[in-house]
Amino acid sequence: MKNRGLLIIVSAPSGCGKGTILSEVLKDNAYYFSVSATTRSPREGEVDGVNYYFISKDEFEDIIEKGGMLEYATYCGNYYGTPKKQVEEMLERGKNVLLEIEVQGAMQMKKLCPDGVFIFIKPPSISELKRRLKKRATESDEVIDARVAQAKEEMKYANKYDYVIVNDVLEKAVEDFKAIIRAEELSTKRIKVDTKEAE
Ligand code: 5GP
Repeated sequence: MKNRGLLIIVSAPSGCGKGTILSEVLKDNAYYFSVSATTRSPREGEVDGVNYYFISKDEFEDIIEKGGMLEYATYCGNYYGTPKKQVEEMLERGKNVLLEIEVQGAMQMKKLCPDGVFIFIKPPSISELKRRLKKRATESDEVIDARVAQAKEEMKYANKYDYVIVNDVLEKAVEDFKAIIRAEELSTKRIKVDTKEAE
């Protein structure tokens, strides 16, 4: 029988480069990226069923009522949640499942699945985060300030995670991520060695 996959929960303030790290990690077939549901509108280039399932508030609340969300949170006035069914199926099939969710949802997951692997990705510093957001030049100073304030709030939760990756050099951050997962796969928390031989 195949071992159950790992449930990996990743949070990171916006502008941390988590998207880049995760797209590198996901090139490896051993991972399944859980597609979340949200009530926010799609951004340009986002595809329904790929980036998110874009649904209405009523639909979202209906799923909550039926117990179909593993976790959910409101973020900037919109619902975001992880559909339960697909995550369960993939774990059963032995796939490592990756949830990319904000801190409130991650804290719910910690209660629900304490044996999950909780990873926080942080920028090297707040000044570097500001620099990266400004360099992106897609937002006004006001929005950048709001994102930095949000990032500071989220960083207060970093020590509640099992691991922290500092995204300074991309290649190193990706390597760190893979090293964490490999170590977790080999952990005696998950694999029990048959010690009869030694008796
Ligand atoms: P964005 O609107 O920028 O795509 O996402 C906003 C925030 O929602 C990000 O911090 C992202 O990690 C988080 N998020 C995305 N999907 C989920 C989800 O299913 N549950 C929770 N709790 N947060 C999510």
